[in-house]
Amino acid sequence: MLKLHSRCNLLCTYCYVYNAADDSWRDRPSRIPDNVLKRSAQRIAEHVAAHGLRRIRVELHGGEPLLGGAETALRQIAEVHAAVRAVSGTLCEVQANVQTNGTLLTEPMVRRLASSGIRVGVSLDGGRAEHNKRRVDHAGRPSWGAVTRGLAVLAEHPEVYAGILCTIDLDLDPEDVYDSLMEFRPAALDLLLPHANWASPPPGKGPSTAGSAPYGEWLARAFDRWFDDGRYRTRIRLFTEIIGLLLGLPSGAEAVGLSPIVAVLVDTDGSIEQVDSLKTAYQRAPSTGMTVFRHSFDDVLEHPGIVARQLGTGALADECLSCPVLQVCGGGHYAHRYLKGSGFRNRSVYCADLEVLIRHVARRIEPVLGLGSLLPD
Ligand code: SF4
Repeated sequence: MLKLHSRCNLLCTYCYVYNAADDSWRDRPSRIPDNVLKRSAQRIAEHVAAHGLRRIRVELHGGEPLLGGAETALRQIAEVHAAVRAVSGTLCEVQANVQTNGTLLTEPMVRRLASSGIRVGVSLDGGRAEHNKRRVDHAGRPSWGAVTRGLAVLAEHPEVYAGILCTIDLDLDPEDVYDSLMEFRPAALDLLLPHANWASPPPGKGPSTAGSAPYGEWLARAFDRWFDDGRYRTRIRLFTEIIGLLLGLPSGAEAVGLSPIVAVLVDTDGSIEQVDSLKTAYQRAPSTGMTVFRHSFDDVLEHPGIVARQLGTGALADECLSCPVLQVCGGGHYAHRYLKGSGFRNRSVYCADLEVLIRHVARRIEPVLGLGSLLPD
């Protein structure tokens, strides 16, 4: 993940970059400088060459990565293509995505991104104005009007439309959120648990209600709507990951499963960081102390925070090790395990929710696939 801008034109009320424990964004360049852009591309190419990679994914993030237009994204990806071609010819495929709030998308911009093979993902909380009340600009004005204009442009360019990323809001009806988002015909949909942990619990779920599972129940209803819906073939990553894990496949996402973390982030000052979701834990939690100017991505594999995320069950709490849904849940998202004083060796703050959802998915797919019980009691 490469951060192109460390600022955003929106200030969503739940944003974990600007409203969480870590405010290190204040000290970083607002836009990625040329030397970081070029050095990041060289480090990517170095990693491709060292490991003989045949495919890599570059995610362009922010802040808002399209602040000021598409130019920075286009230049960054051109640099990555050139650097990777220099070390591996045409052997390594570079997949590029930009994750945007959608408010700045225009027809010429989308055409330019398309011509460079950059796909576009949009962040939304639902497919209606009333779902997106928390997605506001710095003056508190709604962003929905601008986003719908951007989505209308994307709808004309399905070749670049990567999908929608939606953070769950318990106040919204899951069926309505699903139905409204499907009206935008995304190829893929990510339903994300709000980033939270035992020190900063999620909305609607304090420490005294840790055993309740409002997010699991919300997701189970969304799952039923999706599973019973024959109209679309949209992939909902959390659900397809859980189905795959129930059937014994490895996970490809951070939210569930025991696969090692495969993502690293370069910030606008060249710092190599762990993923942004750790910002909800404490000041500079994602920091590795490394930078693209002095360290390779292999160096980052030695960092204790990254090592812990390569250990599988070795990094999990005792409750997880004796949990009947461990092989599917994997302890949940690493960032959701943090507890002040004991670090990350805890079950997820969404533990009860994850078990409810996983058991629900298992119950729904068992009869369809003609299988017996996929989980122990
Ligand atoms: S459901 Fe809870 S105890 Fe079980 S693996 Fe997940 S976080 Fe750990």
